[in-house]
Amino acid sequence: MPKTARVAICASVIFATFVVWVLSGRSHGDAVKAVDDVVFVLLTIPAAVFTALAARAVHGRLRAAWIAITIGMVGWALGEVLWAYYELALEEPPFPSLADAAYLIMPVGFGVGLLLFPADSGQLRARTLLDGVIVAGSLFLVSWVTILNPIYSAGSDGAPAVIISLAYPLSDVVVLTIAAMAWLRAADDQRGVSTLLTIAMAFIALSDSGFAYLSAKNDYSSGNLIDIGWVAGLMLIMVAATVSRDEVRRPRVHANLAGWASVCFPYAPLLLAGIVAAAEPATVFQTPLVGTVGTLLMLAVLGRQYLAVRENRRLLATVAEQALRDPLTGLANRAMFSDRLEEAMQRRERDSAAVALIILDLNDFKLVNDTLGHPAGDELLNRAGERILGCVRNSDTVARIGGDEFVVLVDDDPMHKHADQIAQRVAESFDKPFVIDGQELFIRPSVGLAVAGADEPEVSAEELVKRADTAMYAAKKTRTVGVHRFTPDLQEATCPDDGLVHRLRSTASNEDAAAAQLLGELRQAIDSVELTLAYQPKFDLLTGHMVGVEALVRWPHHRRGLLSPDEFLPLVRHNGLMRPVTDLVINTALDAAQGWHQAAVHLPIAVNMSAPLLADPHLPARIRRALADRKLPASALTVEITEDLVLGNIEGTRDVLNQLRRSGIRIAIDDFGTGYSTLSYLCELPVDEVKLDRRLVVQILHDARVATVVHAVIALAHELGLIVVAEGVEDADVAARLIEFGCDVVQGFYFSVPLSADDVLRMVTDATDPIGAGTPVTSGTERT
Ligand code: C2E
Ligand code: CA
Ligand code: CA
Repeated sequence: MPKTARVAICASVIFATFVVWVLSGRSHGDAVKAVDDVVFVLLTIPAAVFTALAARAVHGRLRAAWIAITIGMVGWALGEVLWAYYELALEEPPFPSLADAAYLIMPVGFGVGLLLFPADSGQLRARTLLDGVIVAGSLFLVSWVTILNPIYSAGSDGAPAVIISLAYPLSDVVVLTIAAMAWLRAADDQRGVSTLLTIAMAFIALSDSGFAYLSAKNDYSSGNLIDIGWVAGLMLIMVAATVSRDEVRRPRVHANLAGWASVCFPYAPLLLAGIVAAAEPATVFQTPLVGTVGTLLMLAVLGRQYLAVRENRRLLATVAEQALRDPLTGLANRAMFSDRLEEAMQRRERDSAAVALIILDLNDFKLVNDTLGHPAGDELLNRAGERILGCVRNSDTVARIGGDEFVVLVDDDPMHKHADQIAQRVAESFDKPFVIDGQELFIRPSVGLAVAGADEPEVSAEELVKRADTAMYAAKKTRTVGVHRFTPDLQEATCPDDGLVHRLRSTASNEDAAAAQLLGELRQAIDSVELTLAYQPKFDLLTGHMVGVEALVRWPHHRRGLLSPDEFLPLVRHNGLMRPVTDLVINTALDAAQGWHQAAVHLPIAVNMSAPLLADPHLPARIRRALADRKLPASALTVEITEDLVLGNIEGTRDVLNQLRRSGIRIAIDDFGTGYSTLSYLCELPVDEVKLDRRLVVQILHDARVATVVHAVIALAHELGLIVVAEGVEDADVAARLIEFGCDVVQGFYFSVPLSADDVLRMVTDATDPIGAGTPVTSGTERT
């Protein structure tokens, strides 16, 4: 059981006993006086010990507060000892006496202590001060009406007695005010202690006032009902001190004082003062002191009202600002974007500058939400927002206008210069993966760009949005990697009516839902090995012989037909399924190779390996086992390093590649010349083969510079002892030019489309020699 609970129980028992004792009519006479005096000495001394212990346990400002309170408590205890002595040893206790001096240390110590209590810095100083004035003024008026005025009027005992009598209730007003203020401003973790101390002060103030009142009428003696208030106060102080000690060891909890409480609080004493004052004749208040206090009180209330109004106005402004912000990303929201766009369009007419819109929609975003959860999705949206912000100028507006849809408003663009650059930069900023939950995610946006030139006044804001949206949608449809710029033909083709913006949106979200379903089906297809392979032959340009095949993955989908890698590999990649897919491909490919080997056809088979997988140190062992299981030599397999992404762990990758190569497996670099910085990989990685990208190869007849590059790369590769494979050869002229350039191996539709394993075998055994015969093989299973 925590200390607090034990102390609270003990305190309750003591308090209850005391109450019963006071209430049971025996509380009169000298014996009672003696018991009462001893009780107070016995209670105040432990209370002082408790506060001292609290001071020892805590630190900083709180310690200073408890030290001051301890001093106050010691004063009180001393007062009790002296009082007990006077009452028990002397006939008539003197008044005022040394005991009063000791007692009055208490309000000073507590006042200072409560002032030092750690406050929540967020509170407004001016308002706190006014609250203090209101509370103090109200309490003073209450005190005046009930106690001070009677004592003051009956002030016949001589000046010192009146002053001391007044000192108790007055100091109580001050301490109670300070306690209330401390409670209002208390830091969250001090709220409990502060509440206890404030209630304790209230009890003590009540008893002090009662005491002053009764003393003035010479009616007080120990064991009176009002003693209960002091005992309650003492018990609460002990509990508060214990709570403060316990609190040190407890983690910080945040329990904010409800807003209304802090706003209404000072009005409670004010209301009390009003009620008490209303019951009294007006003459009671007709002294200069009370008049001043009343005026002050009124001014404080007015000031506080003024502050409240100002604070409200500021809050309203904040709320208004927030109403224009997307709460998740902090970017502009739809409303702010519309405003800014309207403004920009108006300025465009005046300044004859162009306004451009870039709309981005994250591809496959729903999948992130569905597979990694919404917090990951939110995180991704935030990161994406940051990236976009990093690409724009200060004057541009970035807004999130839908779930995964962002828009950039490029304003003030006189030469049509910035928009294209910015759009390009924004699209490229998604080249790097996002790291969410420790996972690398490649998320690409579909980016649409539309510009309203200064010379196109007929283009309205709405029209511009529609155009950018149309361009974005076209980008999505064609899976454009870069920026899709709006052109009028796009409008005719896909933008026939006004409802398009909405239709586009609903189509896009339908697409997302369909993608989520597809993912489920994909997992299923991987589990039950439904993915298949097509094998595209590679031919030696000199001899015309088939020198190998590349395994290309396919997904025969029951509804959508045969899906090509471009249609489902993004899904595989984004959902961390690359490894199971690759394992499946390796096994299927080696099964085919085994079949060919059994027919005495020793064709090396190349599989595509996503670059990140090649950092897996267990990969070589897995591949060696797969080969051994089928009694295949290592030379039966080639690994193509594919994927247009930068290798993260180049050290690990080099290690794995070295192991593979040492065991006799060939290594090829895929898609050379596009995408990633492959030239450096030629130097850094152990490779045997370079595959020239199809996009380069198709251009060698039309673009002299590309031809020069390809020629040079072939020479360079040969210099490094590598074999060059040209991909995507679609006609005889390209093949002829490649022969000129000294290329070693070709692969492409001109020679053969990807075939089934059986067709490959048939082609080899029929000894068809496509180069020699001059008849391209296109009779295979597929041609796209
Ligand atoms: P890639 O490795 O560059 O594969 C060659 C792609 O070019 C194949 O497309 C092939 O069908 C196509 N192609 C071959 N000759 C021609 C031609 O003359 N003209 C044209 N236009 N295209 C030609 P596919 O099968 O759609 O594969 C696309 C990409 O998917 C591959 O490009 C590869 O990067 C990836 N991929 C395919 N299978 C796998 C796999 O098992 N694992 C991994 N990680 N990636 C794979
Ligand atoms: Ca490949
Ligand atoms: Ca390739």
